[in-house]
Amino acid sequence: MTNKEVSMEVREQHNTIHWFRKGLRFHDNPSLLHALRTSHHVYPVFVMDLDFMKDFKIRSGANQWRFVIECLQDLDTRLRAYGLRLFVARGNAEAFFAEHFRKWNITQLTHDVETEHYHRFRDAAVRKIAVDEGVEVVNYVAHTLYNIDKIIEYNGGSAPLTYRQFQKVLKDFGAPPQASETATAEHFASCSVPLEALRDERYNMVTLEELGMRCEHPSKFVGGETEGLRRVEKHLQNQGWVTQFEKPKTAPTSLLPSTTGLSPYFSFGCLSVRHFYHRLDKIYAKAKNHSLPPVSLQGQLLWREFFYVAAAQTPNFVVMAGNPICLQIPWYENREHLRRWRNAETGFPWIDAIMSQLQKEGWVHHLARHAVACFLTRGDLWISWEEGQKVFEELLLDADYSVNAGNWMWLSGSAFYHQYTRIFCPVRFGKRTDPDGTFIRAYLPVLKDFPAQYIYEPWKAPLDVQEAAGCIVGMDYPFPMVDHEIVSQQNLELMREIREQQRQITLLTLDLADRLTARLSLSPQSSPNDPSINTQREETMRAAPVPREEAERGNAPSTLTTMMRS
Ligand SMILES: Cc1cc2nc3c(=O)[nH]c(=O)nc-3n(C[C@H](O)[C@H](O)[C@H](O)COP(=O)(O)OP(=O)(O)OC[C@H]3O[C@@H](n4cnc5c(N)ncnc54)[C@H](O)[C@@H]3O)c2cc1C
Repeated sequence: MTNKEVSMEVREQHNTIHWFRKGLRFHDNPSLLHALRTSHHVYPVFVMDLDFMKDFKIRSGANQWRFVIECLQDLDTRLRAYGLRLFVARGNAEAFFAEHFRKWNITQLTHDVETEHYHRFRDAAVRKIAVDEGVEVVNYVAHTLYNIDKIIEYNGGSAPLTYRQFQKVLKDFGAPPQASETATAEHFASCSVPLEALRDERYNMVTLEELGMRCEHPSKFVGGETEGLRRVEKHLQNQGWVTQFEKPKTAPTSLLPSTTGLSPYFSFGCLSVRHFYHRLDKIYAKAKNHSLPPVSLQGQLLWREFFYVAAAQTPNFVVMAGNPICLQIPWYENREHLRRWRNAETGFPWIDAIMSQLQKEGWVHHLARHAVACFLTRGDLWISWEEGQKVFEELLLDADYSVNAGNWMWLSGSAFYHQYTRIFCPVRFGKRTDPDGTFIRAYLPVLKDFPAQYIYEPWKAPLDVQEAAGCIVGMDYPFPMVDHEIVSQQNLELMREIREQQRQITLLTLDLADRLTARLSLSPQSSPNDPSINTQREETMRAAPVPREEAERGNAPSTLTTMMRS
């Protein structure tokens, strides 16, 4: 539902359920604010519907659940300070609402607008129950900078599919709406929860034990609005860093995030993107100059928005089949290769260290995500991006339906990204910013005593060096699972052929300026997702593309069928 459709009628003395899904916060939460302003009783509810997650194949690992539980605890603590509490319901959402609309004499339901297809599906079902029960439903946009539906409507009913096109549309929209005011003691003053419900233990906080989960590693990202806001304020104090931020200049090998590390907080809505965007605006306004989208911090938020818009409008956005903007690629099925990639056993320390960081901490730098995603898909293993997306969805603290799928399509060369001849080298990429291999030593302790000369390629170390390092390759750490030089070349040929065969699909997410750079094999100056913009250019370079004219004349090597057979 869009803002326009929202009933703005202010009726006092509602009995309201405010349904928290994402939007786990007090600041910039207009639907919560509406609930508080119009109600006598407010029941803040979070529904933990594991069957719903299963039905829609939503994966969530232990680290992610720990983060969510911390967010809920934070919310509960803050609500209790004002005499309310969080009701954590277990089971089917529709059944819960059908029962509790009556049980609690509910007259109003408030919640955020969510754009994912499963949310829309469930919201429609709950809305129907609400209508049948005479319950008014009020919702507002707050998880994105803009009203996504309005952008699509403005763009003639379709999503802008290139960042440039997206920026053009946004120019007409102007800056995103300001964040709404924070819910404070004043807003809570006239709201309460009846005592019986307040004490009802059936809705107590969920625990990891209840979910049958256990986290193996301490958390580096404590969940919740309190922590999210603290982190934002800390970053914003460093105004020079904020104004000069350029994503491609940040290091994927840093042991602490060299970017903001705010993504888990945005994904679950403990932090509002509008709040952050406008705080940045204020700092930019005071600065002599500042970086600009797409590489600036505001530019990062616009990337997020870009993928939300694309996902909202593209059928089957998170899969290849039936997805009109995605190249239809005959990926290999190889469970053993996938398992080794997931479990940090590829034999390439740079790749394995990143996957180990992902397993342990649930967050990795954007360019490190590039490295492992490219390795899994078009770079080395030629395994479907959907498989990588599933692993990320389960392990990332910031797992996000639209952003995850969009970036996986990008990295696998299936959509959005057209510099497909650039394949990341699993040896040289990390070395650029971390020649001593500090990052590898931190996340792969088995290699920690290798000399820097061999840390990225331990299989090349003489046996006495391996013995001195206490790690024999082939026994304590695997040999590389593929010959990168050979497979990346083969994959490049495959990709070239597929792109030529499916040219119409590639053109959907390629705009004119990108077409020129793609053709000239230059890096698109404006793409922060392409590490070739900075000094990493030569690391990522592979063979030059066959000129389009030649390919069109049929001179491109016809490798697809032979490669797929081999
Ligand atoms: C294969 C792959 C999968 C990814 N999956 C996710 C995901 O599930 N969830 C997720 O939030 N990000 C995902 N990203 C995008 C990006 O890597 C992370 O958002 C970023 O690394 C988070 O770190 P940060 O908060 O320090 O980002 P910053 O650089 O500080 O950026 C600030 C915010 O902007 C947004 N943002 C930054 N980069 C991107 C981007 N490329 N696309 C969309 N939004 C962006 C995020 O909300 C981020 O928190 C993925 C990237 C790749 C390559």
